[in-house]
Amino acid sequence: MTTAWILVTDADRVAACVALARGTGASVVCAVVGPRELADLAAAAGPDEVRWLEPAADVPAEAYAEPIAAAVAAAAPQLLVSTASPAARVLLGAAAARLGATVVPGALAVRTDGAALVVDRAALDGAVVETLAVTGPLAVLAEAGEDPDPTTSTAPVTVLEAGAPAALRVEQRTAGATSSGVRDAARVVSVGRGLKAKADLDVVAPLLEALGAELGCSMPVADDLGWVAKERYVGRSGQHIAPRLYLALGISGAPQHLEGVRDARVVVAVNTDPQAPIFRAADYGIVGDLYDVVPALVDALHR
Ligand SMILES: Cc1cc2nc3c(=O)[nH]c(=O)nc-3n(C[C@H](O)[C@H](O)[C@H](O)COP(=O)(O)OP(=O)(O)OC[C@H]3O[C@@H](n4cnc5c(N)ncnc54)[C@H](O)[C@@H]3O)c2cc1C
Repeated sequence: MTTAWILVTDADRVAACVALARGTGASVVCAVVGPRELADLAAAAGPDEVRWLEPAADVPAEAYAEPIAAAVAAAAPQLLVSTASPAARVLLGAAAARLGATVVPGALAVRTDGAALVVDRAALDGAVVETLAVTGPLAVLAEAGEDPDPTTSTAPVTVLEAGAPAALRVEQRTAGATSSGVRDAARVVSVGRGLKAKADLDVVAPLLEALGAELGCSMPVADDLGWVAKERYVGRSGQHIAPRLYLALGISGAPQHLEGVRDARVVVAVNTDPQAPIFRAADYGIVGDLYDVVPALVDALHR
């Protein structure tokens, strides 16, 4: 194993991706598409080298998929890594196609075994860790957990000379429709699979209003059911939030969900199952049916 490239378009989990790539014993290059501050952050995350491409004004990182793919192909790394952020995924897809790399999502760890690269990835909703062996170049979407402690060293940053971006420009940015809302909210009320139907979001709406809270959810409610915008799901692969109040309605409290709220100041859980793991993470717990508890809370708040 000689080289791994990490494709970086935002600050989230760069060090964890570097640590993942280090599992192969490779030297690690971060290809950063973003402002200089992002390149500096990547340089402190433990790679050997940072190649930095500064996007033109109002050109999103995705527009550089082809130039980045060309740079990756010229370097011919054996391993490509990106986080699950949308722009990084676009870069990874283009670079993997150019390299002819096998793409594996949800990678927890990568190592070498002779000529093969071996990937552990979460399967069956996290109940199983699946181990895959690949010969030839490999591209992984990292499902890395914690960022390791910051390093004291700083890698050199050089400018990545790349071709022209695709004709993609940001014309306008409008807050509202697609903005997450939960990321910086002081109060978040999240719904899980305990909610029976999308229409039942109407049961929760008065509580949001009474608390001045933003709506969040567990991953399946956004990803599988599509009842809430994906930007609003909380957890390891969703939003990491730090509200003053986090109220979880009908959420079991899987570790992947709780990772997103560990910085919440007060966690309150409503669940019919007294054994639900969410109660171990909650400061206050109500064992009960959310369809009874939510109207009662709204009533109490109004009084
Ligand atoms: C790699 C990976 C990454 C993941 N990332 C995330 C992530 O970022 N965020 C995330 O949320 N999940 C994530 N998951 C999924 C996670 O493992 C759980 O499957 C998911 O969080 C469960 O969602 P839930 O709690 O809504 O549903 P369930 O686990 O089905 O829980 C529903 C809960 O509702 C309760 N309930 C039922 N009816 C009622 C009622 N009327 N009133 C009150 N309570 C009721 C039940 O007792 C139960 O505890 C990830 C999984 C994997 C494998």
